[in-house]
Amino acid sequence: MEKPDDLKKEIRELKARLGESEQTLNAIRSGEVDALVVSGSRGDQVFTLKGAEMPYRILVEEMNQGALLITPDGTILYANTRFAVLSKMPLEQVIGSSWQQFFPRENLPQLEASLKASGALSPGEELRLQATDGSLCPVHLSLRTMSASGLEGFSVIVTDLTERKQSENALRKTSAELLEKNEALEAFSTTISHDMRAPLRSMEGFVQILLGDYGDKLEPQAKSYLDRIAMSAKRLDHLIADVLAYSKLSCDQNEVATLDLDKIVRDMVEIYPNLREADIEIVASSARVRGLEVPLGQCISNLLGNAIKFVPTGVTPHVKVWTEPINGQSRLWVADNGIGISPNDQERIFDIFSRLHSNAAYEGTGLGLSLVKKAVEKMGGRVGVESELGQGSRFWIELQSAQ
Ligand code: ADP
Repeated sequence: MEKPDDLKKEIRELKARLGESEQTLNAIRSGEVDALVVSGSRGDQVFTLKGAEMPYRILVEEMNQGALLITPDGTILYANTRFAVLSKMPLEQVIGSSWQQFFPRENLPQLEASLKASGALSPGEELRLQATDGSLCPVHLSLRTMSASGLEGFSVIVTDLTERKQSENALRKTSAELLEKNEALEAFSTTISHDMRAPLRSMEGFVQILLGDYGDKLEPQAKSYLDRIAMSAKRLDHLIADVLAYSKLSCDQNEVATLDLDKIVRDMVEIYPNLREADIEIVASSARVRGLEVPLGQCISNLLGNAIKFVPTGVTPHVKVWTEPINGQSRLWVADNGIGISPNDQERIFDIFSRLHSNAAYEGTGLGLSLVKKAVEKMGGRVGVESELGQGSRFWIELQSAQ
């Protein structure tokens, strides 16, 4: 038999607890508090959310991403409408269910691990959300531990990646098609250019034979016509050689190597007779860069060739080449005392076939600088120029330093 005093004490405690429960119930009824009863192995558990958080809930409801609040074992305490739409399950059924059921079996270890590691799901990790009709949609989850209003668990933001993936795939497909077309076009131009060289060579050859064997029997006018044919053939041959070099740049899959800039400059000067005879000052450097050997040689010989070509009549070209380190890159400068380039023209001279002068003034094909740009960009570098009309030009190539 319990003593009357003990009974009285127990009745007082029970009344106090009843009072508290009534207050909670009234708060739930008046909408001040949201409550959820989850029945599980640990008996019934009541979770409440305070009405003061209503503005945030409105925002969450309007979001284009799914939002969940889950307990540490994955029971969903709250879900927004977007999540219900994504999972194709009525919102009332989503709440109280286990979040694991919305993911295919192969994703479960990742989910378990992320909950165990308190929400550390690597950024960008892609999972798949399984809707009630079995359809799967790619999602990204962002998990955060949460401890508020007596709730311990996680907030989860579910981002639907379907549209992003569709546009990524479309983009990938288009660029693959473009690449394929471009390669076909370049292979075509390589073949055409290559095949055009043979008849051109025979044209040049026959002109030389005519001039050699019959030169003394020809009228001066006829001889001058033959000279012009030979000159045009030579010009066309240069053009074809440049087109070939340009298209080969895309086709050749050269290996990136560590290159000695100084050596390449000296080799180019040595190889080309027009450069060997010119006044080219090379400031010694030990710069080493990451690049493609043959294309880099072409770039340097094109810049040096232009530097000695574009000078006013009567001026002896003087060229200076040096290297400087700049933000982990090596910049090679080629400076000349030539005619210079107006700032308005400095961008377009790197475009294919873009020339500022007629062939009568300065011979050329308009392919040299576009080849330099294409090759340098293929090596992950940059190219540029500093100049003013009549002030000489300073072209530069910047490549990743190998030091
Ligand atoms: P090309 O030398 O065959 O004409 P490029 O593509 O090498 O073609 O150069 C494009 C144009 O840029 C040239 O026609 C010329 O007008 C201008 N240019 C290039 N280099 C220089 C330079 N060092 N000085 C002045 N103008 C230049």
